[in-house]
Amino acid sequence: MFGLMQDVPLTVDRILDHAAAWHGTREIVSRDAAGAVSRTDYAALHRTAKQVSNALAAAGIVRGDRVATMGWNGARHLAAWYGATNMGAVLHTLNPRLFPEQIAYIARHAGDRILLADPACAGLIAPLLKEAPSIEQVIFLCGPQDMPEVPFAATDFDSWVAGQPAEYVWGGFDERLACGLCYTSGTTGNPKGVLYSHRSNFLHTLMTLQADALALTQRDSILLVVPMYHANAWGVVYSAPAAGAKLVLPGARMDGQSIFDQIEEEGVTFSAAVPTVWQGLLQHLRATGQTFSTLKRVVIGGSAPPESLIRAFQDDYGVEVIQGWGMTETSPLATLSSPTQEVLAQPYDEQVRRKGMQGRLVCGLELKLTDDEGNRLPHDGKSAGHLKIKGPTITSGYFGGEGGDVLDEEGFFDTGDVSTIDPSGYMQITDRAKDIVKSGGEWISSIEIENIATGHPAVAIAAVIGVAHPKWDERPILLVQPAPGTTCAKDELLAFLDGKIAKWWMPDDVVVVDAIPLGATGKIDKKLIRQQMADYRLP
Ligand code: ADP
Repeated sequence: MFGLMQDVPLTVDRILDHAAAWHGTREIVSRDAAGAVSRTDYAALHRTAKQVSNALAAAGIVRGDRVATMGWNGARHLAAWYGATNMGAVLHTLNPRLFPEQIAYIARHAGDRILLADPACAGLIAPLLKEAPSIEQVIFLCGPQDMPEVPFAATDFDSWVAGQPAEYVWGGFDERLACGLCYTSGTTGNPKGVLYSHRSNFLHTLMTLQADALALTQRDSILLVVPMYHANAWGVVYSAPAAGAKLVLPGARMDGQSIFDQIEEEGVTFSAAVPTVWQGLLQHLRATGQTFSTLKRVVIGGSAPPESLIRAFQDDYGVEVIQGWGMTETSPLATLSSPTQEVLAQPYDEQVRRKGMQGRLVCGLELKLTDDEGNRLPHDGKSAGHLKIKGPTITSGYFGGEGGDVLDEEGFFDTGDVSTIDPSGYMQITDRAKDIVKSGGEWISSIEIENIATGHPAVAIAAVIGVAHPKWDERPILLVQPAPGTTCAKDELLAFLDGKIAKWWMPDDVVVVDAIPLGATGKIDKKLIRQQMADYRLP
């Protein structure tokens, strides 16, 4: 017997409809590349998105067609997004920080028909059009006054939508239809496309709004630092309008000063970004002596935040840190380190240690740990194994069938991460399977050493990689980028690590570098480090 409740499809047009109807005057503030600030609200965004749907329909876009965006976080980007998804097209976010060859591969593979791009990305597009002939039309996300000079036909967004009606009947399709496409940055092999459905995005929105997850409310003012091209800005593209929160979109400006100014000017209460962005902001605060007046919570994810970063935000600036873990393939948020009642009863140091773990699972998903043969491992906090995940917001395969069958016989997706889960349900990433250092058959966690090393005042960024060793197969070495105005000495850093990690985890060498390379989403790029260190030999 079926239930008798209404069978209304969970499509994301309902999210923007809701925001416009019930939070219509809640503001969306954007900053462009030149620093100019513009303001709109959910009701106006709703109208513009309908105009976008009409403009796309006029260009011949039909359900299932891929509409690409390439740009920073801004209101026009958001209108383009919902204009595409709500008419049944697939919104494909291209990451402008990738190498041009990767962008071309991805656009070609996706078969993008229309490209809406930030004027700041203009230089990338002429070569892209040669490589990705499926792109029929380019629209720059700006007004006519900001159009870049380009050697190909292009329109500015404002003129493109002007004159289009603000009525369009959205939705009315199966909730399982494709809604968004996002490629993983391909740290191994070619990038692979994750194809979200309306249903998966809608459910992810409800999951992440939980109080132990992002806990967003209408009263929040959100600075969306994490880019919209990084896995739906961790879902906030949907959860902010769903909650009716004010949205502050910083454009391309990610430096400490710009982020701090926007937080103060817009009464920001919540933000989310990768650790390197927060490290930059922290250095700025320390250098200027500035403090926050409204910021309450930040979610740090994408890679593990060092304990020193968590402590600095909480203890020195009164901002609660929640760590989130996930990946493009998981929509992305899956676990968060919000404290349980038991953890809150523990001493403060233990609470901070828990914040440093990747956290507990949101409702609706399943996690398991397995050994190399696929046998389940216990959740004892000690057994490290392959982390696998299942649920309605987890991918079942890649766009175009790349990578073949990616689920095990129980329907779980292998995240490529190695982790432990303790009896109270806290998951902790030991490493990415491909980054783990295997010394004498035992695993050394590069993340753990990096987190401790980053606690040294002279270290801005730390990265541990494994290098070949005749006896132990691999040994860890530590690369450090010194904090501005400091120098790091090898012996001092090794002494700092001594006693904090097992003796056999001690790096065999410390290499001081000018800059640790960061990848396209602001994470440490270990693939590139390994290439740069190809000729390195242990002392
Ligand atoms: P990519 O980094 O390849 O662009 P994703 O953004 O999807 O792709 O990255 C997902 C991976 O990032 C995870 O599998 C995990 O290794 C890492 N990651 C994400 N969040 C965290 C976290 N809080 N702590 C440690 N690692 C994390």
